[in-house]
Amino acid sequence: MADKSFFIDTTKCTACRGCQIACKQWNKNPATKTYQRGSHQNPADLSFFTYKLVRFSEIEVPGGEPKWYFFADQCRHCMEPPCMATAESLGSKAITKDEANGSVLFNTKVKVKAEDFKTIRESCPYDIPRYHEKMGVMAKCTMCIDRIKEGLLPACVKSCPTGAMNFGDRKTLVEMANKRLEEVKNLYKEAMLANADDVRAIYLLVDDPKKYHKFAVAANTIGITRKVALKRLLSPLRSLNRMIG
Ligand code: SF4
Ligand code: SF4
Repeated sequence: MADKSFFIDTTKCTACRGCQIACKQWNKNPATKTYQRGSHQNPADLSFFTYKLVRFSEIEVPGGEPKWYFFADQCRHCMEPPCMATAESLGSKAITKDEANGSVLFNTKVKVKAEDFKTIRESCPYDIPRYHEKMGVMAKCTMCIDRIKEGLLPACVKSCPTGAMNFGDRKTLVEMANKRLEEVKNLYKEAMLANADDVRAIYLLVDDPKKYHKFAVAANTIGITRKVALKRLLSPLRSLNRMIG
């Protein structure tokens, strides 16, 4: 199976939340208790049971009509996933990558300590991983690997009525994303593809990414926390000390 990617065209998203519901339904995730918080966005955030969330931002324009930005948030299935590198550096096999299609997978059968989960979450440039305290396991979007292995589209893509969610072979999807970027640049000078070379969920944004979501683009592309970097640096020295001592 070829390397896969998503292309998420936010200019076509109407915030219908079909993708969010389809994701819940396919993964048999229970509904999350929520309430009206004065925003179209609901629930408030991703969770162990919510892998896909349509984020909603209302931007006030002085003297003009407000602007609405929709951001169908999910795991980016990074090309070099910092979450996996961090888990490995902590001695955990909870995160793997499917080399055939590139999906990054959290093994819900592998227990992770709460403090290790915190470090793994901090290493994700997009703040995606979530944790179940009682079960001690992590969860997030799986790229619907069970569906794509059968030649089906991920549930979110299949349900999207506007063409905002797209999925397929990476080469084709990157071409589609670049073609669409050229089209919208006439209308939106700030149009961009967010971290396109580093991720398998490529978002087309037409304004400052921070207006969509705090983690719409990577704050840093390294994504490994100082704590983990230090641990990696020190562990060979510690082993050497033990051998000498
Ligand atoms: S977006 Fe975060 S959770 Fe998803 S693969 Fe990248 S680092 Fe891992
Ligand atoms: S299904 Fe498509 S149009 Fe509806 S919220 Fe998701 S991405 Fe947007």
